[in-house]
Amino acid sequence: MCRHLAWLGAPRTVSSLVLDQPFGLRHQSYAPRRQQRGLMNADGWGVGFYVDAQSAPVRWRSARPLWGDASFASVAPVLSSGAVLAAVRSATPGMPMDESAAAPFSDGRWLLSHNGRVDRRVLPARHDAESVCDSALLAAHIFAEGPEQVADTIREVASADPGAYLNVLLTDGSRVLAVTWGDALSYRVDTDGVVVASEPDDDDVRWVDVPDRHLVEVTSSGVTVTSLER
Ligand code: GLN
Repeated sequence: MCRHLAWLGAPRTVSSLVLDQPFGLRHQSYAPRRQQRGLMNADGWGVGFYVDAQSAPVRWRSARPLWGDASFASVAPVLSSGAVLAAVRSATPGMPMDESAAAPFSDGRWLLSHNGRVDRRVLPARHDAESVCDSALLAAHIFAEGPEQVADTIREVASADPGAYLNVLLTDGSRVLAVTWGDALSYRVDTDGVVVASEPDDDDVRWVDVPDRHLVEVTSSGVTVTSLER
């Protein structure tokens, strides 16, 4: 399973969010602490974030391990944003290995990361998917159904493929939506914003674990967590 993270709040540098935390995504790329499937996340990584110059997010993705990306490490300290979504990848067997299969996927203002796997036969074949990777097809399906409907879409995909793992993380720059369906997720409320992540990136006592099959919504007014079970 991959690992992902989102930040919503006051501008922070991409390095502080993605590289510098003791158990952050760089550490998780070779030694995740809570990963139940897969030992490391060496099959690529990506980050997307919002800048003043344009409404669509910018992305930087790679098929290489995050821990070895010295060029990105030199640039990340001067990139900053109030909304950031990043992921490190452990590819599901049979999926493409190039950077187009690395999250975050994007559509207009939205960014999306999927932590899990899903049988591609239950997803509509979409010509606008960024890759034939299951996560890219799932992203295209969620974008087409409407990101605000992500809870309904995940329920529908899960009923078509009961063996699927479907943790997803989305942002449009002003809110973060996260679904737990088969894997871990935690969040931490700081004085200047909220981090949502597959696993805590430090040992701060403020981390809150999200139960399975829940929807997390983060806006400037706070965090809500609701059950997806009817
Ligand atoms: N299935 C996706 C891929 O192959 C995500 C894998 C994961 O969560 N480890 O990239």
